[in-house]
Amino acid sequence: MSAIDGLIANNRTFAQSLPERHLDVRPSLRLAIVTCMDSRLNVFSALGLKDGQAHIIRNAGGVITDDAIRSLAISQRRLGTREVMLVHHTNCGMQTLTDDGFRAELQAATGVAPAFAIESFVDIDADVSQSILRVRRSRFVEHRDSVRGFIYDVDTRLLREVHVEDEDPH
Ligand SMILES: [Zn+2]
Repeated sequence: MSAIDGLIANNRTFAQSLPERHLDVRPSLRLAIVTCMDSRLNVFSALGLKDGQAHIIRNAGGVITDDAIRSLAISQRRLGTREVMLVHHTNCGMQTLTDDGFRAELQAATGVAPAFAIESFVDIDADVSQSILRVRRSRFVEHRDSVRGFIYDVDTRLLREVHVEDEDPH
């Protein structure tokens, strides 16, 4: 049995254990969270979130890519969110590679260099700061006055806020 087959069985049990419900497609906290795909970061448990409260946008590193901006634009302009919370974390897999090294690895394995940026990083605080600025500078994102960034410690499970001075908010 594959891992996915196990999850399908889990889902049947899950669905049968709870009553049917009809949540609004618009997140009730009017919040979007962009975070890493890391398997140790359970966003719902770590932040006390419930279903229907927030959008969760995830990728390797919680990077503000064009696709993350696409999701934020839809989240705000169609689904009513106003605040953006960025959550990066300690001991991230993105700190174990370099852009040039991983790009070369992909090219060596496939013969093709990827068109996308790898977005590896060394300094987590600097990476969170850059991510905050990328959201604040994107005019596709309508509401940019409540963009805050954090680092989640995967061992202590505590959040630490990263503050950034934005000298050019527009
Ligand atoms: Zn990560």
